[in-house]
Amino acid sequence: MAKQLDILVPFLNERESAIGFCALASGLATQARQRFGLETRFVLIDDGSTDDGGRLYEEHLQGTWTLVTLSRNFGKEAAILAGLDHSEADYVLMMDADLQHTAEVALDMIGRILADPELDMVYAVRADRAETQTLGRYLANGFYWLINMGQRYEIPANAGDFRIMSRRFAGAMRQLRDQRRFNKGLYAWTGFRQQRILYKPAERQGGTSKWSKRRLIAFSLEGFTSFSVVPLRMVSLFGGAVAVLGFLYGIKILLEVLFTGVAVPGYPSLIVAVLVLGGLNLALTGLVGEYVWSALSEAKNRPNYIVKSVSQSQKAAGVRQQASRKSNG
Ligand code: UDP
Ligand code: MG
Repeated sequence: MAKQLDILVPFLNERESAIGFCALASGLATQARQRFGLETRFVLIDDGSTDDGGRLYEEHLQGTWTLVTLSRNFGKEAAILAGLDHSEADYVLMMDADLQHTAEVALDMIGRILADPELDMVYAVRADRAETQTLGRYLANGFYWLINMGQRYEIPANAGDFRIMSRRFAGAMRQLRDQRRFNKGLYAWTGFRQQRILYKPAERQGGTSKWSKRRLIAFSLEGFTSFSVVPLRMVSLFGGAVAVLGFLYGIKILLEVLFTGVAVPGYPSLIVAVLVLGGLNLALTGLVGEYVWSALSEAKNRPNYIVKSVSQSQKAAGVRQQASRKSNG
C-alpha cells in the first residue's frame, strides 16, 4: 500500500491567499505522488478565522482533505496539535497557509526523510535571517543562547514550524500536552535524529502577519518559563552576590566608624542601593510570577483546544466509510 502523507495547515484569516494555496496544494500532492508514490491528505485547521477562508478551501481544494474548525483562536501552536490529533499518516508535513512556505522546499524535505529511515524529522531554517544584523537579531540570538544554556538538547535558532516528521515523531508530539506551547522547544525536547535544510521564505501573499512585536515578546517569555530555569537562577545568583557585597560594605563602614570616627556621607550610596535592590526585587518577583502563572495554567489541565466541527472531502469521507464498513462486517 502507498505510504500516507498528511499536510497540516493551520490558518487564521487567510482568505486572500486561500485560492493560491489550493493551487499550490494540488501541485504539491501531484508531485508527491509522482516522485515519491505518496498518498497526500490535507488537514486544515481553522484557528478561529472570522473571514470565510474555510469555505474557500472547502470549495477549491482538490484531492483529499479534512477541515478541523476550532471554537475560537487558540494560537498556531495549539492548532498544530489539533492537526496532529487528527492525523495518523506515515509522515506529517506542516506548512503555512500564506504561501510563504513553497512546494519546492516541501518536496525537498519529503525526499530527505524518505531517503533515510534513521531520520525522523527534517526542518527548514530561514537562511535570510543570518544576513541581517539588526537589534532584533541580536536580541533573538541572546534569547537562544540563554534558553539553550545547560540543556541536554538544543533549540535551533531561526527554525519554525515548516517541518516534516515521521509517524513515531508525530506520536511523541501528541503526547506532549503542554498548555503554554513552545513548539520549537518541544521539537528539540522530543529528540530523534533531525536534519536541517536552509530556505528563504517567499513573500506573504495577501493578509498580514499575526506576529506583532508584543506577541513575540510574550511568546519568548512563554518559551523561557516552559523550557528554562536559567533566568531564575541567574537573578538568584546576582541577588546573592549583591547581598554579599552589601554585607562587606556594611562591615567596612562599621570598622571605619569604630576606628577613625568618621561618619560616612550617605545619601548617594543609599539611593543607589535602594534603586538597584528595589528594581531587582521587582524584576525577580515578576519573573517568579511568570513561572507561577505557567505552573497554574498547566495545573488547570484544560484541553489545549476545542473543536467546533470537522468536515471532509468526499474522498476522505469515502475512505472512512469503507474502513468502518470493513470493521463492522
Ligand atoms: N496562524 C494560526 N493561528 C494564529 C496565528 C497564525 O493558525 O493564531 C497561522 C497563519 O494563518 C499562517 C501561519 O499560522 O498560516 C503562520 O502565521 P504568520 O504568517 O502570521 O506568521 P509569520 O509567517 O509572520 O511568522
Ligand atoms: Mg507567514
